[in-house]
Amino acid sequence: MNNFINVEEIKDNIDFVNLAITLKNIDAKSKEDMKLVCKEGEFTFENLSSNIQVHSDIVNIIDENNIGEKIEGDSLITNTKNVPLLIFTADCVPIGIIDKKNKAIGVAHAGWRGTYEKIGQRTIENMITQYNTNVDDVICVIGPSIGPCCYEVSKELIEKFNTILTNKEEKFYIIKECKYYLDLWKVNEMILKEAGVKDNNIINLNICTSCKSDEFHSYRKHDKTPSRIGMILEIR
Ligand SMILES: [Zn+2]
Repeated sequence: MNNFINVEEIKDNIDFVNLAITLKNIDAKSKEDMKLVCKEGEFTFENLSSNIQVHSDIVNIIDENNIGEKIEGDSLITNTKNVPLLIFTADCVPIGIIDKKNKAIGVAHAGWRGTYEKIGQRTIENMITQYNTNVDDVICVIGPSIGPCCYEVSKELIEKFNTILTNKEEKFYIIKECKYYLDLWKVNEMILKEAGVKDNNIINLNICTSCKSDEFHSYRKHDKTPSRIGMILEIR
């Protein structure tokens, strides 16, 4: 098994970034594992920057003054070269965001709480303020995470999401045998579109971590595993 995957649409079309998503034999929380991934994937290990993730809507701005510092938050943005941004997930939704014109990037960790707090939109808003990003130039990648096929939640949670997703035509949940399944992919897509991202610029890999638990860490499927998938994004 390989240690990570690349996203072909990004690899083939946007040459100033490097994006990788780690596979199950890597724990993104392990420094040694990340050293290996960075070496194989040509990321700048010494500048690797991540959050202390707290299921919030906090976006941290990384520049030459705080590379590698660990600050509470669930999103990172930068326009500094050779600084890989890293998000940890296992079922939660990792979102990669690329401003292909102004050469800025962001990564976000969207579990149901971060999704509810619209962390994807917050990230883009911060990129607009910091890097003068135009949403027309933004490409988003929704990485491996628990899909609507497997993400059973309470009826209460569906109702909670109903309050922020009013007047939407698309359905963001499924009912199967009286059980409710939240579609975090669709909710995040809606939020990114609401932030102004073009439909065609949202790349959803459509990989469910629970269905594909042989390849990816899944918190639910692997009995609350402490291991994490890493989404790494760097400006070359
Ligand atoms: Zn599934």
